[in-house]
Amino acid sequence: MKFRSTRGNGTEVTFLEAVLQGLAPDGGLFHPSSEVDLSSGLAKAGELAKVGDGEPFSWRAARWLAPVLRHDYTTDQVKGLCERAFPFEPRLRTLDEGLHLLELFHGPSCAFKDFGAGFLSAVMEEYLERVARRALVLTATSGDTGSAVAQAFAGRRRADVVVLYPKGRVSRLQEQQLTTVGGNVTAVEVEGSFDDCQRLVKESFAHREAGNLPLTSANSINLGRLIPQVLYYMEAVTTLRVTAGQECAPVFSVPSGNFGNLTAGVLAWRWGMPAQRFLAATNRNDVVPKYLETGRFNPRPSVQTLSNAMDVGNPSNFERLATLFGHDVEAMRKAITGIPVSEEQTSAQIRSAWHRWGTVVCPHTAVGLCAAQRWREEQRQRRGSSADGETVVLATAHPGKFPEIIRETLELKVEIPERLARLLDLPNEAVLMEPDVDRFVAWLKERYGA
Ligand SMILES: *Cc1c(COP(=O)(O)O)cnc(C)c1O
Repeated sequence: MKFRSTRGNGTEVTFLEAVLQGLAPDGGLFHPSSEVDLSSGLAKAGELAKVGDGEPFSWRAARWLAPVLRHDYTTDQVKGLCERAFPFEPRLRTLDEGLHLLELFHGPSCAFKDFGAGFLSAVMEEYLERVARRALVLTATSGDTGSAVAQAFAGRRRADVVVLYPKGRVSRLQEQQLTTVGGNVTAVEVEGSFDDCQRLVKESFAHREAGNLPLTSANSINLGRLIPQVLYYMEAVTTLRVTAGQECAPVFSVPSGNFGNLTAGVLAWRWGMPAQRFLAATNRNDVVPKYLETGRFNPRPSVQTLSNAMDVGNPSNFERLATLFGHDVEAMRKAITGIPVSEEQTSAQIRSAWHRWGTVVCPHTAVGLCAAQRWREEQRQRRGSSADGETVVLATAHPGKFPEIIRETLELKVEIPERLARLLDLPNEAVLMEPDVDRFVAWLKERYGA
């Protein structure tokens, strides 16, 4: 499979070339320019048996990815990358008949972004070793991207990482995850919003003074983070087929901010994974649900919510999503339903998940769960029956990352995973910065310039 910019024809590049460039030369995002059919890998009866056999997820992942990456790697190399990237697995957990959580938070930073960041880091390390070069990875975070990237790159020999996060807009635990890694990872606390952080990263690439820095990005715009996210969708369907049958085509509810996660789901579907529909579950930052409703895409400044990793006013992957549907809102409506969820509904969902199923969900997962339940209820009323198939809600973060919100909502002390708890006592080593690209680039040059 080859890739090219969302903004025009440009030249086709391979996966690795796209990863290394980050953004396309015309400012667009790299995007598949050819098709691939992965459905045979999904459907094989043997594939199903292996799920029960204790075959690691990373091996299935490698078989699914091999055709996509075939211009850059042999099947064995893809397997090596997947083994390094995924020492953890997605887990499907059934809440109720036909309603499942796809737990994506069993990685080092306790959020689904570990899948993308882990794979990107494995790809970059392999490449940089091979060519004996260094890279400077810039990444903006509204919460969880930065910690996943920081963890994935910590201790890598050939990459330095700079993580930008908005001052006062991330939780204490998230901040500790970003600012305590040290070594090759530096956190920059920006006096502004997440959109300012994202803009600083984008503008640095184009900056006249940044020419000598080996810059690359690790945001969800990087193809190396997007592509591996198709894998857990495929894993969910593979796992579900064992219990729900070969014909199973689930509805996926995806708590969304920058829409990388949802875009990956749509890619998996385009590549042959059965899915009935995708729910674009958002908080009050609902520009994509509004687009689906009105046909107009109106980015606006983000507002702060309980699900802060989804506080995005101008979702960067919308460009890919729109490209996938030929910029035709009618076509997108056939596959995606937008469901915005209020703050009150989010809290109520955290409470009802606890009371009904004894499950503590993080606020992002709660948004997805709320959207899923609303969708199922509507379907039930429309059809007057309870036959509503399988719904999979992507559980994007461990609830233990948000102890304050869980305590306020449930009057419950949530268990914080050991890999997070130990960070609480480490010193915060962030550098404070105004959202000014000239100053930021000058600082980068001073610190990393040759
Ligand atoms: C990043 C994030 C999201 C949003 O994912 P996108 O790919 O940006 O849409 C949702 N939940 C959590 C916990 C996240 O960290």
